[in-house]
Amino acid sequence: MRILERLDQLYAIGGGPGANRPHGSPEEDAAHALAGGWMEEAGLDVMVDPDGNLVGRASERVDVWVGSHLDTVPHGGRFDGALGVVAGIEAVERAGTGSVVAFRGEEVGCIGSRALVARGDALPAAFLELHVEQGPVLAEADAPLGVVTSIVGYARGELVFDGRAGHAGTTPMSARDDALVAAAESILGIRDSARGIEGAVATVGKLTVEPGGSNVIPAHVRISVDARAPDGARLEELIAAIGVEPVHWTPPAPLAEGLRRVLLEEIERRGLPAIELPSGAGHDAGILAAAGVESAMLFVRSLNGGVSHSPDELSSEEDIALAVEVLTAALGRLASA
Ligand SMILES: [Zn+2]
Repeated sequence: MRILERLDQLYAIGGGPGANRPHGSPEEDAAHALAGGWMEEAGLDVMVDPDGNLVGRASERVDVWVGSHLDTVPHGGRFDGALGVVAGIEAVERAGTGSVVAFRGEEVGCIGSRALVARGDALPAAFLELHVEQGPVLAEADAPLGVVTSIVGYARGELVFDGRAGHAGTTPMSARDDALVAAAESILGIRDSARGIEGAVATVGKLTVEPGGSNVIPAHVRISVDARAPDGARLEELIAAIGVEPVHWTPPAPLAEGLRRVLLEEIERRGLPAIELPSGAGHDAGILAAAGVESAMLFVRSLNGGVSHSPDELSSEEDIALAVEVLTAALGRLASA
């Protein structure tokens, strides 16, 4: 399959183990050059925009884009981002219409799509992003493909706990004010808060303990909080339950109803289960959707338990073939609408 061969060529660029094409590296440039060549082979009109994003246009000028990104996390997988670009080239070539885009720097904060939105003069009318699920939902539902309802919003902040330092040997348990014990109770509460809200997740990934001696009762603890939910109401509910003051807040990005329906119809037409699910990860489609571009995402089932950002990331040739069929059909329908 040509798509898998091309994914192998992109995967080989960083020299392994895993895909190594971080934003701004010669490896990201090499991936863009390779994809640009494939776009030319497909007969597309290739240009690089002022922010380094690569766009290949079919001769029929319909303002519908497909695509994704070519940068990776260090030691990343074969499919994240790259699949959307390679499959996008295939879809535009087959449909003979629309454009395929490879955005820069998605993994470090959607640099390329944010820059495009900030310029504002060259936004497409619609954007379809094909991407691996990076989770286990489709595999558990026995479904090759899924349609994303929204890109979850997230909030980040910190909670601080103050106690009283003391000698670990001479301070009786009844006389302690241990900041880390208070933090531990709070972390369990954060888990329970997220469990109580459908589709919500919350993570404490960083802990600073002071003074930080093994024989000193902790006096001061800071914990990081990353909270995510599929819509604004649930995100606010989660934040309130945790009691954190967010220092960073990215609102959820609902995806376009009309485009979602087209993707679902094309999935059903092939006798496949029509699954809808939110995306817990951020994507370029979320940036475009937030800027008012009609956007939708088609997820391809992730195998190996849904692992991603790892060389173990895997999707099957059969599922990818179905995804390209659905993307091509959707592109054709949008172009003639
Ligand atoms: Zn990605």
